[in-house]
Amino acid sequence: MPANRRSVAVIGGGYSGVACAVHLSRAAREPFEITIVEPRPELGRGIAHSAGDPDHRLNAPTHIHCFYPDDMDHFTAWCAANDIGQKDPDAFDGERLYARRWDYGTYIGEQLARHQADNPSGSAVTHRQAAAVDIAKQDKGWAVSLDDGGQLSADAVILTTSNAPPSVPPPFRGEVEGHAAFFRDPWDVDAMGRIAADARILVVGTGLTMADVVTTLMRDGPARRITAVSRRGLLPARQRKEPPDETLLEALTRKPPKFVARHGKPERLLDLFRALRGDIAALAEQGREWHIAFDDLRDAASEVWPALPRPEQARFMRHLRPWYETHRFRLPPQNAEAMDRGVREGRLEFRAADIVGARVSGNCVDVSLKPRRSTRVADTLYEAVVNCTGPVNVASAGGNPLLHSLIEGGLAVANPFGLGLEVDGDCRVKGRDGSTDGTFYAVGPLTRGRFGESNGVPFIMMQAVAVGKKLAAQFANQV
Ligand SMILES: Cc1cc2nc3c(=O)[nH]c(=O)nc-3n(C[C@H](O)[C@H](O)[C@H](O)COP(=O)(O)OP(=O)(O)OC[C@H]3O[C@@H](n4cnc5c(N)ncnc54)[C@H](O)[C@@H]3O)c2cc1C
Repeated sequence: MPANRRSVAVIGGGYSGVACAVHLSRAAREPFEITIVEPRPELGRGIAHSAGDPDHRLNAPTHIHCFYPDDMDHFTAWCAANDIGQKDPDAFDGERLYARRWDYGTYIGEQLARHQADNPSGSAVTHRQAAAVDIAKQDKGWAVSLDDGGQLSADAVILTTSNAPPSVPPPFRGEVEGHAAFFRDPWDVDAMGRIAADARILVVGTGLTMADVVTTLMRDGPARRITAVSRRGLLPARQRKEPPDETLLEALTRKPPKFVARHGKPERLLDLFRALRGDIAALAEQGREWHIAFDDLRDAASEVWPALPRPEQARFMRHLRPWYETHRFRLPPQNAEAMDRGVREGRLEFRAADIVGARVSGNCVDVSLKPRRSTRVADTLYEAVVNCTGPVNVASAGGNPLLHSLIEGGLAVANPFGLGLEVDGDCRVKGRDGSTDGTFYAVGPLTRGRFGESNGVPFIMMQAVAVGKKLAAQFANQV
């Protein structure tokens, strides 16, 4: 590395890590040495865009999947230039393109490659293929320890480790989780290819991961019968039909956001949801969709969520989170159609039930389900159980050894609701003593506890741009 160059270690090389590296290289006023630490061979995929299954799609149209705030339709144009509509005709729902997540990962990888070859600051962006296991403060900057025994020194660190694979739900821990009929990783499509074509299958979870998995399972085994279960049996909502009356960038940068302009920042959950219900009722009177009001709340989340006192946030997590998430994270129309077809043909059913027990029985798993609002428990044998409880980013529960060690060492604090790490309004990681350091950031889903929304690509892009500018300005001032 050339002497005197500032160095930045980006930990994690999915969408967030790549966005941080690229936007830092664009904002820098001098050449930086930017290293993306990522164990996967390819950058830009992460968990979200590694799925090779042709039916695992982005859950919103291409224009939502932005990468450059100054060219929000860049991915849409890339799809056109790469004939995605011709190569993947099912992507088009009649109005918009819902591209494959794999293709999006390819696109993100290409953006990185472009900036590796040339970027405005002349920064070097390299990939260190390893996992970070620890980070320690040193005299000057940070020391990042890697799982291959190596170490990296950096003037600044950005954490983007985000989603860990789903944990095993308690009834399946122990004997069942090691059994061939239990599928812990819902994105391991090859493993699921081993499920018999006429199997009876239990899918645990009824969110977007379930939608991906049942689409694949039904496509590859028309005789399979699938039960998808969750405690409340709530299913993800359908996409909105009415197009927004402003661009995505306008919605994301509007000050104050529309919801706040109408209602301020309620300090009680009751007032917040009363305001939302009022907006929805007003829209309904005009024959318009609830989605419009809901999206206004979503786009105001970074102001509304932090304004709720902690006990109100806790109440949201206890009672409203599943409801919010099923309206927030919506089905690509292609998956919605596959699910409807499965139900119509009697191959797919949804249940609201608690899983009260599970044990191995020969080649099967015997699962005890207690339907919601019932005391009667029924046992059923399943030839396969697929864990679709969704990714975890709970740092303290050992979801990621690096985060675990940062928390143990006091350099970071887990959000009390399991929503990543505590950060300040500029994405600086808070230590146990509440202090922050202008050279230690987190970007993406790890920051959801602070911003309420940080999982969707547009929100991550905005954070990556802001952190890039901040670091660039900070280092420029230190010269
Ligand atoms: C299955 C799935 C589908 C999704 N679909 C959409 C969608 O359609 N639209 C949308 O807007 N959002 C979607 N999301 C939300 C998603 O969070 C964001 O879109 C975005 O892709 C997150 O990228 P990321 O880089 O933050 O996280 P991830 O994709 O989780 O990547 C994190 C990376 O960090 C690496 N890592 C972890 N620990 C370490 C370590 N210790 N050292 C080094 N590297 C480490 C991992 O290997 C991984 O590659 C989806 C999420 C999932 C899980």
